[in-house]
Amino acid sequence: MYNVAIVGGGPAGIFTALELTKLKPDWKIVLIEKGTKIEKRKCLLREGYEKCPTCKKCGLLCGWGGAGAFSDGKLTLTPDVGGHLLDYMERSKVEDLIKYTDDIYLKFGAVDEVFGTDKESFADIERAATLAELKLIHSPVRHLGTERSLDVLKNMQDYLSEKITILFNTSAKSLIVENQQVKGIITNDNQTINADYIIIAPGREGADWLTKEFADNNIGMVNNAVDVGVRVELPAPVFEPITEKLYESKLIYHSPTFGDEVRTFCMNPYGEVVAENYNGISTVNGHSYANFRTANTNFALLVSEKFTEPFKEPIAYGQHVARLANMLSGGVLVQRFGDLLDGRRSTPERIKSSIIQPTLKFATPGDLSLVLPYRQLTAIKEMLFALDKIAPGTASRYTLLYGIEVKFYSARVKLTNELETEGVKNLFAIGDGAGVTRGLIQASASGIHVARVICER
Ligand SMILES: Cc1cc2nc3c(=O)[nH]c(=O)nc-3n(C[C@H](O)[C@H](O)[C@H](O)COP(=O)(O)OP(=O)(O)OC[C@H]3O[C@@H](n4cnc5c(N)ncnc54)[C@H](O)[C@@H]3O)c2cc1C
Repeated sequence: MYNVAIVGGGPAGIFTALELTKLKPDWKIVLIEKGTKIEKRKCLLREGYEKCPTCKKCGLLCGWGGAGAFSDGKLTLTPDVGGHLLDYMERSKVEDLIKYTDDIYLKFGAVDEVFGTDKESFADIERAATLAELKLIHSPVRHLGTERSLDVLKNMQDYLSEKITILFNTSAKSLIVENQQVKGIITNDNQTINADYIIIAPGREGADWLTKEFADNNIGMVNNAVDVGVRVELPAPVFEPITEKLYESKLIYHSPTFGDEVRTFCMNPYGEVVAENYNGISTVNGHSYANFRTANTNFALLVSEKFTEPFKEPIAYGQHVARLANMLSGGVLVQRFGDLLDGRRSTPERIKSSIIQPTLKFATPGDLSLVLPYRQLTAIKEMLFALDKIAPGTASRYTLLYGIEVKFYSARVKLTNELETEGVKNLFAIGDGAGVTRGLIQASASGIHVARVICER
């Protein structure tokens, strides 16, 4: 019998445990994690495998640290990006939570430096963005880098191992609910774990399980948008005037043709493009190291689609588009912007003769217009021309576009402002898996929030 059981050892679950152990050092807390300890985690795709071997448990997403372990570790210190916490709390409360969460990252070894705090220093960028019809979101960023993210999370693992019970290689299989109050969890190895409070934080990896389990207990869900787009890679000097001041610039544009929102996402100065695998589908992403630089900068351009009735399957839609790229290229497809505009595929020879070389070596040169719907392709072209006004060279014919980058956001659980499920008492859902957040800081902050709510009760 535990006071609290937490499902998922990603940032949301970890920060719940950190706050609970601080506020209630005598409580019995258990954390159930499907994957391994952080030091045993391995993603073969990141270790040079050309194709994702689709491990039974995805090494990139499962294990201590969740999706945060091999992430770029960009802590975006604003409520305006990385989640929907503002839908549940006052702005000042979310800001306080973010500050508190960031301080914990610092305590466990995050770097001191934060980019983008001095608004005066980037007033020129903001002005140029406005003239180009781009909205620059003010978002200070602390950048850990992939290696340091692992260290910080390992420090948290070591700290919590002495204070709570952690069950690795154990999955939550089902919830025990009686009279609309949660009582416990049954695990994959048929252990029954009884607890007064249960916090579900399974990340996107566990979102399907969460959806099914919650549907069985009549807990409502709402569809989120799906973001479809490409990863852009260009010579680092093109974006340097922006990245040296802001590190990451969050820019939003509305496509003149369709009015769809297009945004930059996950900018990696001097970084590299990487392939990812979601349930057998190859997609693309990017990251950068703290101690190693390439000659290129990459970022995603994502077009948000929020579907209206009767369509209810945004994730299936995103998967379908990504599968088309896989079908044509055998994995990730890459095309020069000039070739896209000229209506021809890129070839290995054309890529070779460019002024920029791809950091993702095994992407297949091809034609994105055979993959992306006209609506999203148009929005991406228009955004590249808008960006060219603030970072000349962005719309160069050599700029590389990798497809497909898709962000599948889990359906959002219907929750109270305390992040407790509507309908089942003492059951809380947080982080990316609940559709509440989309990034490290807000996922972590959602954990702090529920820990405090429970302790106050
Ligand atoms: C490559 C990559 C780069 C990223 N870079 C950044 C970045 O720079 N900045 C940023 O803010 N965000 C970044 N993100 C996003 C960020 O990692 C996530 O927003 C964050 O990790 C979400 O935290 P979470 O705890 O909700 O879920 P997760 O981190 O996904 O953790 C969920 C955990 O739950 C476990 N689990 C799932 N189901 C079960 C079950 N049934 N039983 C037990 N355990 C279960 C999983 O194994 C996993 O360990 C990146 C993500 C990826 C994949």
